[in-house]
Amino acid sequence: MTAQRPNTTTDAGIPVSSDEYSLTVGPSGPNLLQDAYLIEKLAHFARERVPDRVYHVKGGGAFGYFEVTADVSQWTKSAFLNGVGKRTPMLVRLSSVAGEEGYPDTDRDVRGFAMKFYTEEGNYDLVGNNTPVFFVRDPMKFPDFIHSQERMPDSGLRNNNMQWDFWTLSPESAHQVTILMSDRGTPRSWRHMNGYSSDTYMWENAAGEKFWVKYHFKTEQGIQNFTDAEAKAMRGEDLDHYRRDLWDAIARNDYPSWRLEMQIMPYEDAVNYRFNPFDITKVWPHKDYPTIPIGRMVLDRNPDNFFAQIVQAAFDVANMVPGIGPSPDRMVLGRMFAYADSARYRNGPNYMQLPVNRPRVDVHNYNKDGPMRYRHNGSQPVYAPNSYGGPKADPQRYRDPSWFVAAAEIMRAAYQPHRDDDDFIQPGTLYRQVMTPTDRDHLVGNIIGHLSQEVERPIQERAVNDYWAKVDPDLGTRLARELGLVTPAMAGAQHARGT
Ligand code: NDP
Repeated sequence: MTAQRPNTTTDAGIPVSSDEYSLTVGPSGPNLLQDAYLIEKLAHFARERVPDRVYHVKGGGAFGYFEVTADVSQWTKSAFLNGVGKRTPMLVRLSSVAGEEGYPDTDRDVRGFAMKFYTEEGNYDLVGNNTPVFFVRDPMKFPDFIHSQERMPDSGLRNNNMQWDFWTLSPESAHQVTILMSDRGTPRSWRHMNGYSSDTYMWENAAGEKFWVKYHFKTEQGIQNFTDAEAKAMRGEDLDHYRRDLWDAIARNDYPSWRLEMQIMPYEDAVNYRFNPFDITKVWPHKDYPTIPIGRMVLDRNPDNFFAQIVQAAFDVANMVPGIGPSPDRMVLGRMFAYADSARYRNGPNYMQLPVNRPRVDVHNYNKDGPMRYRHNGSQPVYAPNSYGGPKADPQRYRDPSWFVAAAEIMRAAYQPHRDDDDFIQPGTLYRQVMTPTDRDHLVGNIIGHLSQEVERPIQERAVNDYWAKVDPDLGTRLARELGLVTPAMAGAQHARGT
């Protein structure tokens, strides 16, 4: 009945004689140190883990492709984006931010949306979220932000007080926290959420013209969210709900897809645009820069091995192919250092040689050696310049993407504000003009639920008076009532009434 099965071997390929029994002195005697197979098995077991990602630990992913649906040559010369109908193989990893491996998928959180395009000009990695904005706009605050979402130093418990303390002392977080506290903070599945670059990037066409761009991956399954109660119920039912949902959908050939729509800003617009277009806490309103559909992403293949292809997958914001570059967005510039650094720490300096990370083009450079080096350059010279061959960069053919920076003193300072750069304008617009009355009711309920758990009174007061009331006065009043607080406006009204 069973097919012929290979004999078990050691990692050196040597056949072994038992899958069950250690080598012992007689059936009742002690184990022997010379049982090299047992020792290899136990020693390998103790080394099965690589360091977790520091955040975005819990995730899942799948392979698929990106297909171009419109001519974009006027904006970018990127080879993989040029040619309607052209397909590029992809890997996508979706994740939660704060929880560890094993954490409930549906807990309120932002979701990571990391994409790797295996292009003919090398790997292009686009690492975004399911939200168009972010909590902080300067990488200096990033580790502090993540610490505030993680666990207390003494108890090892997560703690809402820490989260609200950080957010309310960082008003630039208000836009992202509004989205996080809405039902978009608890998507029904990874398939039912959008992905955004969030950061601003630069595109450059063959003539050298530059554009600022934002990517929007719109779910073709439609946006669907859990209510807070539904998300909490799912926590008890299936901790791995998102991971399972994606796997099952692909296994039944119900392939999830997203439409790529771009916002494209002419290079010259950036200086005087009413918002700083490089501030990741802001969106570009659609009426200023409408989205332009240019492609479609489909996930149609589950991994063969979760560890090798999803855990060891490494995405690097700095992996941009010709025709795509960074922008003066401070977060993207900081992220360009952090991702490869993390991957080198987790998987070693040769992590790019792992099959899931390996580009589908030949690699030519002078890096050499290091732990677990697999690919090598034979007897190629190991330095440049040299007189004996090896790769040679052609500065006429390739240039680093660039932009003009006015001469200025080196300093630590906030961005120069643009006309409408206020931390509360855009979340206020979202609350008043985009959300339905039901969305607003759920937002209030979700904020109250979150703010009521272990958050100290002074921080609740700050959250209402200095944060939500600035997003929208009505929202502030509703929250104050629910929490039994008196806002300055309510106190003023009481005073005027003489109560
Ligand atoms: P629009 O009315 O043109 O766009 C609003 C967008 O908000 C929609 O297209 C949709 O984008 C998204 N949206 C709809 N419902 C919700 C919700 N409940 N929670 C969060 N987002 C929602 O207005 P503007 O472009 O002027 O933007 C107004 C506000 O909308 C912004 O301040 C921002 O808060 C929010 N927004 C704007 C986006 C942008 O890129 N301009 C993107 C997402 C949100 P989508 O299909 O991408 O979800």
